[in-house]
Amino acid sequence: MSGRLFVIGLGPGAAEMQTPQATQALALASDLLGYGPYLARAPQQAGQIRHASDNREELARARHGLCLAASGKTVALLSGGDAGVFGMAAAVFEAIEHGEPAWRALEVEVVPGVSAMFAVAARLGAPLGHDFCAISLSDNLKPWALVRQRLTAAARAGFVMALYNPLSRARPWQLGDAFALLRGLLPGDTQVAFATAVSRADERIDIMDLAVADPARADMRTLVLVGSAATRRIDRPGQPPWLYTPRQAGESAA
Ligand code: SAH
Repeated sequence: MSGRLFVIGLGPGAAEMQTPQATQALALASDLLGYGPYLARAPQQAGQIRHASDNREELARARHGLCLAASGKTVALLSGGDAGVFGMAAAVFEAIEHGEPAWRALEVEVVPGVSAMFAVAARLGAPLGHDFCAISLSDNLKPWALVRQRLTAAARAGFVMALYNPLSRARPWQLGDAFALLRGLLPGDTQVAFATAVSRADERIDIMDLAVADPARADMRTLVLVGSAATRRIDRPGQPPWLYTPRQAGESAA
């Protein structure tokens, strides 16, 4: 008997930012797999089995989920934000490509979620209103030289950048190096937003110029959004500023 595998993006944290489709898929599952804090977001359901694993064990977790699904279970693999953005979905397809031929016959459904960059952008105003990119600063799965190359290309191309995984205890210096690189490529008054734990109780957002952006402000629950030279800041009395990136660029902006 062949089972089902849902790969579910739970959104950035707040219950109301979890889609109804994600909630439905969680309720259908016989087995939930994920990093502990993500499992804790799923309501307890009688008969449902939870398999907690460490955050770094994505491929092993994906294989485990596929084995359970192949044995007839209905499996939910949980990701924060959107499962396809630096999440579990790519690990699942990597496991399928290199794994058991029978896994290709499984019903696999990727359930989209609100990625951190969208939750953050909505809080700030409309910084992703024009062309943008998302870059993970984690060099666990790629060399740091490649991250630097991509940051350089994105800055030169005028993209707004959503920087995921800006730093962790094991990767303390990468964000500082990224800022130093970007300061050489972008104006000093380019807007940088540090958005931590967005949509959760301890949400914190700070906006500052690239020239003074302090990497120590970030932690592993922070998304760092770097504006383009075109990104505008609207100051407001007694309230945090808005950031937006105009829809027009180049000659059509004239
Ligand atoms: N799949 C997730 C990203 C996983 S990578 C998504 O689509 O959002 C983990 C990184 O996501 C964190 O280091 C941080 O940069 C960002 N992130 C996740 N949740 C966040 C939140 N609530 N607020 C700010 N950043 C968040």
